[in-house]
Amino acid sequence: MKHTNAQCVFCAIVAGTSPASVVHRDAQCMAFMNLRPLHRGECMVIPLVHIDHFTDMPDDLAAHIMVVGRRLGRRMMRAFAPKRVGYVVHGFGVPHAHLNVVPLHDSSDIVSAKHIVSTDSGLRIAHDAVPLRTRADLDADAAVLRGDQ
Ligand SMILES: [Zn+2]
Repeated sequence: MKHTNAQCVFCAIVAGTSPASVVHRDAQCMAFMNLRPLHRGECMVIPLVHIDHFTDMPDDLAAHIMVVGRRLGRRMMRAFAPKRVGYVVHGFGVPHAHLNVVPLHDSSDIVSAKHIVSTDSGLRIAHDAVPLRTRADLDADAAVLRGDQ
């Protein structure tokens, strides 16, 4: 297993050379805010080591990431009051395993329906369809999830 990948933006975040609004970091994983959240509080938990597929992680690492995601989900429920918290893993955006922790205010939020755009050739997933949240707003949301305020 390669521990870092020079082309990987998540490895750059782990190394501290790319910005992120960090909500958690320990010896195995870190969590930071999604740049294009459907709703406030959406974040992701990633392993510190570069592993492309979530299913390739060792059991203890995958379990730890789920536990961290659950803890963040509890804080998300208290801070942002979604109806539910969902977990999504797909990896089509960045090939470094990540657990998306998604505040669900509507059942369509879990399928990221707002990412779906209609084109001449049919429906298409467009990850840039949801606007970027400002770094200041992401930092403020991260502080809420960390329990700083
Ligand atoms: Zn990586």
